[in-house]
Order: sequence, then structure tokens, then C-alpha cells
Amino acid sequence: MYDIIIVGAGPAGLTAAIYGVRANKKVLVLEGKAYGGQIINAEKIDNYPGMPHISGFDFATSLYKQTLELGAEIKLEKVLSITKEKVVVTNKNKYQAKAIILATGAENRKLSLANENRLIGKGISYCATCDGNFYKGKIVAVNGGGNTALSDALYLAPIASKVYLIHRRDSFKAEAKLVEDLKTKDNVELILNSSITSLNGDDKLESITVIDDNENTHNIKVDGLFVAIGQIPQNDIFADTIDISLNGYIKSDDGVHTNVPGIYVAGDARVKDLRQLTTAINDGAVSADIAVKEMI
Ligand code: NAP
Repeated sequence: MYDIIIVGAGPAGLTAAIYGVRANKKVLVLEGKAYGGQIINAEKIDNYPGMPHISGFDFATSLYKQTLELGAEIKLEKVLSITKEKVVVTNKNKYQAKAIILATGAENRKLSLANENRLIGKGISYCATCDGNFYKGKIVAVNGGGNTALSDALYLAPIASKVYLIHRRDSFKAEAKLVEDLKTKDNVELILNSSITSLNGDDKLESITVIDDNENTHNIKVDGLFVAIGQIPQNDIFADTIDISLNGYIKSDDGVHTNVPGIYVAGDARVKDLRQLTTAINDGAVSADIAVKEMI
């Protein structure tokens, strides 16, 4: 029996664990892949107050160690289901908790084009900071118009010989500062109002085909393509137990409670406007604080 079981060891989940153990609760964090969540891929975090320039890896590793040192258990097990009675079933065990905090984050969205899966690691990547160095002096493209795509293009500009930023609109979701910075880079070319329609190459990616709003198609020779078109939540397994929005995020009237008493949500997994490190950390702290206060 645990007081709190947290699903997901990203910033929201680990912060919830810290607040749980510091309230003297027995806390277990379950993670299906690796600690750190999406932030572990950020080359540099510039918008976390008081910690300018820290890398995502350093931040996530420090948070992970801090959580363990404070006394939380963290197990690498994939959660398969939860019940309203707070039973958590994983690929290895079955646990009972008094409260559950769901901090499952989200995963990279794929283009869903032919060849995409086959060419992953052979020219197609979803993480510029992980794979960017493989493209020293080469030609790369980044697809997307959000903070991730713009950050990726900025990261790749000093590494690659040429960076195409391909986006399906002529306006960006990304912060204006990132767009301004990108426009100062001589080797970056913006290809706007355009979508990728095919990924070409046998053993490795050789080119991409792009179509613009006027239905003109272009073949662009690239060595690498970084897909940065957003995330999709991972909450299908909870759909029998709690309310999930149409696009897969966990519903919460106040940003903490789900519709089931004793089951809470934190971080990118929930319906929210601003998915950032700062807001994930905030969610983790608040969800654990409320879970502790409401615990029978
Ligand atoms: P995002 O903000 O959801 O942006 C996704 C982009 O991909 C949008 O420009 C979208 O186009 C485009 N897109 C979506 N589906 C597409 C498809 N099928 N084909 C082509 N383009 C597609 O995702 P994100 O950039 O990964 O950011 C996710 C969250 O993390 C955001 O809240 C972001 O602010 C945050 N983030 C923060 C930092 C930081 O704090 N420094 C860094 C990275 C990310 P439309 O604009 O046309 O919808």
C-alpha cells in the first residue's frame, strides 16, 4: 500500500513526488520509459526562472536524484491500468494506493507518412538535441511552427550547412523572440504555407517532397528531417476510469482533480493552455499538496 502513486517521471510527476515525501507520505513513481519526460531533450532551458541556460538533461537528472534522495521510490514499470479504487496494474506488479497522480505528459506526433517508421534513425528524428550532431555540415529540414520546431532550427543552424524550416502556415505558434532569432540566421530558409507529402529514400532519407498552398510540389534534398509537430497525450489506458477530452488530454475542472475522487492530474497530460516546464512543476506541487490534504 502506497499513500500516493504517481504515473510518469517527468517534471510534473517528480515534483509531485518531492511534495508527497516531504509531507511524510509513502510515494511510488512509475515510469514506462526513462525519467525526465520531454524536457530531457531540451538543449538549453532559458525560461525557467532563476536557472538560466541549464540543459534539459542536467535539469531532469538533478530533479530525479533529488526525488530519490528525499525518499520516493521510482520504478521502471509500464502502467497498464488504474481503477477508481486506486489499484494500479503495471507490466510487472499490482499496487494499491490511497491517491493517484497522473503525470503522463505527451509523446511526439508523427507525420504518418509512408517510410516514416522505416527511416527513423536513418535520417528522420524527433529530437534535434539528441541527434543534431550527426548532421555536421549536412542539409537538414525541421517541420513545425511551435517552440520546439523553432528551437530545433536554432539549435541546428550552427551545426548543419543548411536548415529548411517547413511550416504549414505563414504564422507561428512559437514565441516571437525565437522567430526573430531564426530570421537572423544566414543558412536558415523558411518554407511556409507548405506541407511534407513524402519521405524519399531506400536505406536512408535522401529527399522530401513538399507541397505549398498553391499545390506546387518541390523535391528538397536533405540528409536529415527533424519532425517537431507537437505532442499527443498518452491517456487512452485511463479512458475507462476517468474523463478524457476529445483530443486525449485528461479533463479537470480546476487543473488538479479528475472526475474521480483521489485521482489527480498534473502537467502536460491535462487540458491546459500553457504546456511549459514552469507550469508542469507548478502542477506537480499543487496536485501533491491537494492529494495529501484530501487523503483519508
Ligand atoms: P506545438 O506548440 O503544439 O506546435 C506544433 C506545431 O506543429 C504547430 O506549428 C502546428 O501547426 C504544427 N503541426 C501540428 N500537426 C501537424 C501536422 N500534422 N503536420 C504539419 N504540422 C503540424 O508543439 P511544440 O512546438 O512541440 O510545443 C509543445 C509545448 O511545449 C508547447 O506548449 C511549447 O510552448 C512547449 N515548449 C516549450 C519550450 C520551452 O519552454 N523553451 C520548448 C519547446 C516546447 P499549426 O500552427 O498550423 O497548428
